[in-house]
Amino acid sequence: MRWVGILSALWIGLSNSASSQTVVWSGSDLPRVDSMCQQFQQLYTQIREESVLPDSARKIFSDIMLGLRTKFRSAEPFRLDSTHRDSLLRTAYFSFPLRNYTADAIGGRHGEGYRGKGFDLFDYNVRGSHPAQDIFIVDRDQDCIDDHTDRPADVLAMTSGVVLAIETAWTPGQEYRGGNWIWIYDPILDGLWYYAHNNAVLVRPGDWVQSGQKISEVGRTGYNAYATRSPTHLHLMYLQIQEDGLPIPRNPYSWLLSARNF
Ligand SMILES: [Zn+2]
Repeated sequence: MRWVGILSALWIGLSNSASSQTVVWSGSDLPRVDSMCQQFQQLYTQIREESVLPDSARKIFSDIMLGLRTKFRSAEPFRLDSTHRDSLLRTAYFSFPLRNYTADAIGGRHGEGYRGKGFDLFDYNVRGSHPAQDIFIVDRDQDCIDDHTDRPADVLAMTSGVVLAIETAWTPGQEYRGGNWIWIYDPILDGLWYYAHNNAVLVRPGDWVQSGQKISEVGRTGYNAYATRSPTHLHLMYLQIQEDGLPIPRNPYSWLLSARNF
């Protein structure tokens, strides 16, 4: 579903009174969302290939994020005060990102697989952190077919948002760690979701996805995820966008615990 098409539906979903009010976009001097997606796709590819200096990447990233924030906040459904926003987050806002799985599938005892310290999105050489939760499927023979269902395991969007960028061309032997990934911007949270190691990716940049919508299937793509030592899993990261447009990782563990299961 294209993101423009959903705005009226979202409006009705978010407002208490059904309204026929149409969404009016202001800030028309800003680039279109589609072109911000293209910029993000290009930037993240350059970061991965280390063809952009970290400081330049930071500046480009924050420009894109400030643009997205302004663009979405100019639309009525996303102009929420903090009370409305907080109550929205309490009412089944999050969807557990693996169909047929629950929080038991999260790696570590109490989500301790998350290590946010030292993370730098803009410097691909910085390693050692893991600002993410890994969520494992039952796949003993590592063929990406769920041993319980005999089918691929569906990855579902944690929250609604616009798909900014995807990778679909990872091949074994490539050193890129994320494999086939998806980046989604949630304008309500003003943050980014990153889903990595996917097999099939079913969304495209510019798509609007609903919370709980299938976006991909769990895979083993990515340098480490492909190795036999790695059980098949989804790598899920959330980056909160700060006032200056720069990202800071936030542990999504409590959100995973409160998420609706499908
Ligand atoms: Zn991971």
